[in-house]
Amino acid sequence: MEPIIRIEHLIFEYTAAEDEIPVRAIDDISLQIEQGSFTAIIGRNGSGKSTLAKNLNGLLLPSGGRIFVKAWDTADEAHVWDVRQTAGMVFQNPDNQLVSSIVEDDVAFGPENLGVAPAEICQRVSDALHAVNMEKYRKKSPHMLSGGQKQRIAIAGAIAMKPACIIFDEPTAMLDPKGRAEIMTIIKQLHDEGITVVLITHFMDEAVEADRVVIMDQGHILLSGTPAEVFAQEEILREASLDLPLAVELSQKLRKRGIKVPKEIITVEGLVEFVCQYK
Ligand code: ADP
Ligand code: MG
Repeated sequence: MEPIIRIEHLIFEYTAAEDEIPVRAIDDISLQIEQGSFTAIIGRNGSGKSTLAKNLNGLLLPSGGRIFVKAWDTADEAHVWDVRQTAGMVFQNPDNQLVSSIVEDDVAFGPENLGVAPAEICQRVSDALHAVNMEKYRKKSPHMLSGGQKQRIAIAGAIAMKPACIIFDEPTAMLDPKGRAEIMTIIKQLHDEGITVVLITHFMDEAVEADRVVIMDQGHILLSGTPAEVFAQEEILREASLDLPLAVELSQKLRKRGIKVPKEIITVEGLVEFVCQYK
């Protein structure tokens, strides 16, 4: 499988003023994101996750190393729009992402910038609103919507660009449990439809849904592997101040009581299945 994003020895430094010491937010990260994959990125606050995300679609450009989105170097000015169109972004706060006073205009904003023909834009808006189950709100003002609904509009805006990949930076952090679950359902659906997903999250129960988990710490990659491999490393997770997924925590407690739960079980559904068959 071809990687859709190739990160090669990425370094990123924030420099506020000429005479200040730069803050090195990313310190030599190499990573490949396979086409069609679902990668979860976790790590404590300040570990560099958002900085990495913004480098993936050229919102920030590397201080060192290189990033390729498909064949395009993100630092190549001639392909800024190719990169942005291929790798869409959804941020944490939906209020900062909505620009128009009517939902459909908001969703149309991206394709308009890409120069898509009006009839095609109209179709894309319909399809995108359908994908996030928000068709009913097409003519409404985003300001009247709940946080979860606004986030679904922001996702529709990303979908309308027809990206091959969407990077979600803590998209559920500001939502209630119901809103969170709805966003996760949409993300999983997009992945099932073939979109490459990169999900930055601090909810471990979202991370277990991915096919690969990357743990970041102080600007570098601490651990990377399947969710089962990563969440078996309890010590490392603890050191990185990360929680365990609910099923992993419950499994530990069950093991202490003599029930031999296999280490591969990391989802609540998997644990329920195991317990129900346990004799
Ligand atoms: P995360 O998303 O994992 O919380 P960030 O990528 O936001 O981490 O931040 C990584 C590091 O970069 C932190 O030390 C943070 O303080 C610093 N940082 C983030 N944004 C800026 C900025 N605009 N200017 C200077 N430093 C920043
Ligand atoms: Mg962040």
